[in-house]
Amino acid sequence: MQGMKEKSSGQATAGSGAAAPLGASAADGATRADDATRSGRRPAGMSRRQFVMAGAAGAVLVGAGGLGAFARDTAQAAYLRPPGAEDEAHLLARCDRCQRCVQACPYDLVQPRPLTWDFPAVGTPELIYKDGYCDFCMKCVEACPTGALSWDAPSAANIGVAKVVSDACVAWDWGGCTVCADRCPVEGAITLDDRGRPHVDEVLCDGCGLCEMVCPAPSLRAYDASTAEKGIYVVSRQSAAAAVPGALTSAELEELCRTRRTDAGTGTTAGAGAAGSREKGGSRE
Ligand code: SF4
Ligand code: SF4
Ligand code: SF4
Repeated sequence: MQGMKEKSSGQATAGSGAAAPLGASAADGATRADDATRSGRRPAGMSRRQFVMAGAAGAVLVGAGGLGAFARDTAQAAYLRPPGAEDEAHLLARCDRCQRCVQACPYDLVQPRPLTWDFPAVGTPELIYKDGYCDFCMKCVEACPTGALSWDAPSAANIGVAKVVSDACVAWDWGGCTVCADRCPVEGAITLDDRGRPHVDEVLCDGCGLCEMVCPAPSLRAYDASTAEKGIYVVSRQSAAAAVPGALTSAELEELCRTRRTDAGTGTTAGAGAAGSREKGGSRE
């Protein structure tokens, strides 16, 4: 699940009360933020070793004579990519791991994929919404020199879709929280049912991540390792999680959020996205 992402701690935004993500301690986050500050250019959330290895991995892959073969092998994965990304195969083929989009994002949302089993994706950009959300400033797209991120892609206005986590959301458990519905900048993207539980309109949601950032579930609930930290997460529209209608459990989200949906296509065309009705107050705090 996205709670398992390697999240940054660099952006100073309003206190969402977010706990450290699963798999990343507060001390680890502080260390990475300090590293990023000292280096000036190395992405937050990435150690010096990871940064060097990501660059090396990119060089090796490019030097191997194109990424097509590697992209075919990694077709099972689906990550939350910055706006302007096409499908996974296109991004893996066009991205040269230069990290310019990572450096361009003013809110440190764009992070390079770390070294994991999914080697072909190492160093490619992934959005992490812990301390910030996307306002579609498009600086990442402007910075991309290869066309891996482009203004023409459907995802330029539609990054992903938010999924409520039924066993982590405070409102689904005992009620009383309306933070995500109150803060969502897209009119109608989150509505409350007659029990006060949030539901996401998967067409209207543009995946900006504001709901994920502000969700106070980590500070309202007692720590429970069996559930997600936040009550809502944005997932790629190409993920199997996006193919499941309605809310997910924590276990379902963890299993499906980075697994590619089988009915694939690009999965990026659904949703009105930012071209829809951004009317409510989405001001960056
Ligand atoms: S559009 Fe702007 S805020 Fe969103 S990921 Fe790109 S650089 Fe960051
Ligand atoms: S998803 Fe988070 S912000 Fe929204 S109602 Fe549930 S606990 Fe509150
Ligand atoms: S539009 Fe943004 S804040 Fe609203 S539900 Fe979608 S991701 Fe969350």
